[in-house]
Amino acid sequence: MPEQVNHNDPIRSETGFPHLGQDVHLRGIRGWGIQRVHGGGDSSCADEPAQAGSSQGEILADLAAQVANCRDCSLCESRNLTAFGVGDPAADLMFVGEAPGREEDRTGEPFVGRAGQLLDRIIGALGLRREQVYIANVLKCRPPDNRDPQPHETDACRTYLEQQIRVIQPRILVALGRPAACWLTGQETSLARLRGRFHDWQGTPVVATYHPAFLLRQEQYKAHCWQDLQQVIEYLDLTPVRGRS
Ligand code: SF4
Repeated sequence: MPEQVNHNDPIRSETGFPHLGQDVHLRGIRGWGIQRVHGGGDSSCADEPAQAGSSQGEILADLAAQVANCRDCSLCESRNLTAFGVGDPAADLMFVGEAPGREEDRTGEPFVGRAGQLLDRIIGALGLRREQVYIANVLKCRPPDNRDPQPHETDACRTYLEQQIRVIQPRILVALGRPAACWLTGQETSLARLRGRFHDWQGTPVVATYHPAFLLRQEQYKAHCWQDLQQVIEYLDLTPVRGRS
């Protein structure tokens, strides 16, 4: 029987996430034995972007300029604009998707269009705003017809995302979709096998979940995405939105 949306709970009704019981929210998380590698306490995600991020912002701006001129793979031939990344250069939480789509290629910004709007609502449900996190993709140029990234393209583009993560130093990474999850975990397997536990990218914990574009097509998986994000909420001590004033 399909799960019902609880319209009294704005976290899920706002995002379309069906209701999950508290036991489902937290089941198993405390048993995963993950330790906070960056220390505990309140997340700076809840604050305005820190001034300390300005030098990180300058480094990212230089890197974005390199990307804009990059011709290291054939995607440079068909792109309109590169979509480097957007958000707080000192964000605690960083989302990584696979590649720009049509709107991203047109605007030069990752996760705009309908999938981006859903990601914004997911971020809002976490109690954050888009400008308080960082959003990037594995590839900075749009693959023709939105096909999956090819191995030689991800290899050619690898250094840019690696540098972004090292500059931003997020406390946790969220992989959106299988290509990003495989990239961040170094495992070529299904998303189903990568969900439900923490992974590690060079010392930074990684959570894998569904891409918003997939969730737009398969709404029944929104509940599972929200379940994945409980790991992020707990790890960063976030306060999810419980209602609207
Ligand atoms: S996808 Fe990456 S490696 Fe390929 S041209 Fe664009 S920026 Fe360069």
